[in-house]
Amino acid sequence: MAVPCVRVPREDGEAVRSTLAEADLVTETREIVVEDGWLYIPVTDATAVPDDYEVVHRDVPTRETQTTPADIVDFTPSYERIGDVVVVDEDDPERAQALAAAVMESAIPARAVINRASKVKGDLRVRDWEVLAVAEDGTDRAPTETVHREYGCEYALDLAAVYFSPRLATERHRVAEQVRAGERTLDMFAGVGPFVVPFAKRGATAVGVDLNDTAIEYLRENARRNGVADRVTAIHGDVRTVTDPDGIDGDGTDYRDWADRLVMNLPHSAEEFLDTAVELASEECVLHYYDIQHEDDPYGPGERAIRAAAEPEYAVTVDTRHTVRSYAPHELNVVLDVRLSRT
Ligand code: SAM
Repeated sequence: MAVPCVRVPREDGEAVRSTLAEADLVTETREIVVEDGWLYIPVTDATAVPDDYEVVHRDVPTRETQTTPADIVDFTPSYERIGDVVVVDEDDPERAQALAAAVMESAIPARAVINRASKVKGDLRVRDWEVLAVAEDGTDRAPTETVHREYGCEYALDLAAVYFSPRLATERHRVAEQVRAGERTLDMFAGVGPFVVPFAKRGATAVGVDLNDTAIEYLRENARRNGVADRVTAIHGDVRTVTDPDGIDGDGTDYRDWADRLVMNLPHSAEEFLDTAVELASEECVLHYYDIQHEDDPYGPGERAIRAAAEPEYAVTVDTRHTVRSYAPHELNVVLDVRLSRT
């Protein structure tokens, strides 16, 4: 069976393999193939591979010692891994149970298999889960609790209490690569810190705000785990109150006119927070604005909303219009990288 593979010249192979492995994109159950000076590295998700790598489809042998869920069930299984938790999305209870049993029997190092039991809900964007299988490991860790690795950073998290999606790994890496040491960055909807931690690792001062107090506790833990606690400030509360130093349980800093870089990853509602973003922006600020829109005009509504909030106080330049992924039929998850320059 042909599978997606990243094709690289042999001499670049190890560097590319380790970059893909850090993003958890290498298919462990397939062999890496060398042919005519090229290396073919099988990947788990072709859409998550950075644009600068070439993806081709080709047959590569299954690793003989590894059993995959696909070897066990009689349908094409779909699942994703978050740390040692395997997430499936199966409506049919029989298929869900069969897949969970196959995952636990396979070579995947899974501690638990959980099924999506609702959409993400409410302001905190957390969903319900059905636990399909869990291996006893002598701890009292919840089946939804894990540590996920992404581009060299570790994130402790509990999927039952916080939002986290590994599908955004490549996008977060794209943004993190733009960050320079000494920048003042602020993630307005920070979750457990997958923007904040890599920003701080690149030497930025990184502030993360979130309404979810559990996410903020994990963000603090993740800053410590990754050795960047000294550059990270985690603030619990509604980001609209962060512009009022007395209105939030932060460190009393006045963050108005402060940020050189802002991240707004709350698609569907980000527009409501643009006035706050403008208050937080310094003289020159880059804004990463995530949106979900119809494919006919995916960038227009966001750009118009940003201009309405920021002009004429700021000149607005859109540096990048980028589709992160397809969200639903005819709907795209997009990002605008926007430069705000005070006039
Ligand atoms: N940036 C993180 C990531 O990429 O994993 C989390 C993004 S998640 C889509 C949005 C986050 O915004 C959630 O953690 C939610 O709790 C938080 N949130 C929602 N409304 C908020 C508000 N008014 N102020 C601060 N955080 C908010």
